[in-house]
Amino acid sequence: MSRILIIEDEVSIADLEKDYLELSGFEVEIENTGDRGLERALNEEFDLLILDLMLPQVSGFDICRQVRDQKNTPIIMVSAKKDDIDKIRGLGMGADDYMTKPFSPSELVARVKAHLARYERLVNINTPANDIVEIRGLKIDKTARRVWVDGVEKTFTTKEFDLLTFLAQNPNHVFTKDELFKEIWDMESIGDIATVTVHIKKIREKIEVSTSKPQYIETIWGVGYRFKL
Ligand code: CA
Repeated sequence: MSRILIIEDEVSIADLEKDYLELSGFEVEIENTGDRGLERALNEEFDLLILDLMLPQVSGFDICRQVRDQKNTPIIMVSAKKDDIDKIRGLGMGADDYMTKPFSPSELVARVKAHLARYERLVNINTPANDIVEIRGLKIDKTARRVWVDGVEKTFTTKEFDLLTFLAQNPNHVFTKDELFKEIWDMESIGDIATVTVHIKKIREKIEVSTSKPQYIETIWGVGYRFKL
């Protein structure tokens, strides 16, 4: 849920904005003074700020500047004076949008949604996607080292995770226990291939509906294992 901070000294306006935003599913906090608003905007994680220009203690102008120095949080700046809005817009101080009071609450909600969506797109572009392997109901997030089976997260030890991922990334390929041991344990496998069997058993208990009829990791008798595509 997106979290929004309203910094506004007119309590009735702040409350009205809060009501409408909460009805649209946002989590909303209010601060009525500039100093308190600035402190929270800098020290807490908000997804968007609605910032009044004329505030006691610290002005919306100063808050916007200081927040921009440290964060990319979208800022919608509001003022009762159209002249002030024109002035600050001209200064290019980094607010993402400007609204003149009074405005309709639904207009505010529409703009909040638009800025949140735009910001989310920007963040997604700048964050590399996780490396994910997905085969039928099995989803392996290699970046986060997490595994889901039919949408339910399962916990794996480091070696179980490595072994499962290696097999899933090389489907339809039969590996001997020796090969798997060398690949995952990274050492000579003399006498230790039973470890592979034990790990396969544990993995199956977590990912297979029926361990006697495995849908993912097949036993190729006398040879080793194969991940079924
Ligand atoms: Ca004000």
